[in-house]
Amino acid sequence: MIQIDHLSKKYLWSRWALDDVSLTLREGMVGLLGPNGAGKSTLMRILAALTAPTSGKATVFGIPLTRAEEIRRMIGYLPQQFQAYPGLTGTEYLDYVGALKGIKDKKRRNAEIDVLLEQVNLQDQAGKRVRTYSGGMKRRLGIAQALLGSPRVLIVDEPTAGLDPEERVRFRNLLTRFSLGRIVLLSTHIVADIERNCRQIAVLNQGKVCLSGVLDDLQECG
Ligand code: ADP
Ligand code: ADP
Repeated sequence: MIQIDHLSKKYLWSRWALDDVSLTLREGMVGLLGPNGAGKSTLMRILAALTAPTSGKATVFGIPLTRAEEIRRMIGYLPQQFQAYPGLTGTEYLDYVGALKGIKDKKRRNAEIDVLLEQVNLQDQAGKRVRTYSGGMKRRLGIAQALLGSPRVLIVDEPTAGLDPEERVRFRNLLTRFSLGRIVLLSTHIVADIERNCRQIAVLNQGKVCLSGVLDDLQECG
């Protein structure tokens, strides 16, 4: 469970990007909705311990965000602008990320990478350089790197473009599979995606939660 308590964030020279956000996120797919600038990426980066809140706190399975190293090991993060090194092959890139994540044993790393490549259906292209990958292949590689080390939480910041409709559906189904026993927090501005795949949603607008809850039991709160 992720417990978010009165989180706020203000960047230098700007209005509040997050304004007193409190939420409880449970296992399964959680949709984070809201227009551009609503604060979705900011909330995700805070939960991934990549940026600090201005005030408030949150815990991820009981661990406070202030223990950033531990949080980073518990969370897989796929940023909106995911880029792998184009000159590396998929396998080389995952090996590099696995080493960064502290999977020191080369054999263990290789074994885990093989399993992941199969799960995201990239096993046949893993030996090719990333620069030859399609948008959908890059996203699948992005999921694989986020899943390295078996994190209990997967945070996926949706791209606004780059995937065709068919790739989009496949990507969403892939995430749904990984949401079993995990918290998968997915940001999007496409309402239909949320209805199809998410059990729980939160809607942000101008840094505030304006709607949150389980899909068949929504509560207005702002
Ligand atoms: P708009 O919606 O009109 O594009 P934003 O709300 O995105 O404006 O931006 C508000 C302010 O925050 C702008 O001055 C913008 O330059 C700044 N800003 C937005 N994103 C970033 C960022 N990632 N890094 C630095 N400054 C940013
Ligand atoms: P969303 O992901 O919903 O589009 P963001 O979290 O990116 O929203 O942005 C929330 C607000 O914070 C926006 O006004 C944006 O311009 C601003 N912002 C985001 N990142 C930065 C930054 N690094 N520096 C300054 N302002 C930022």
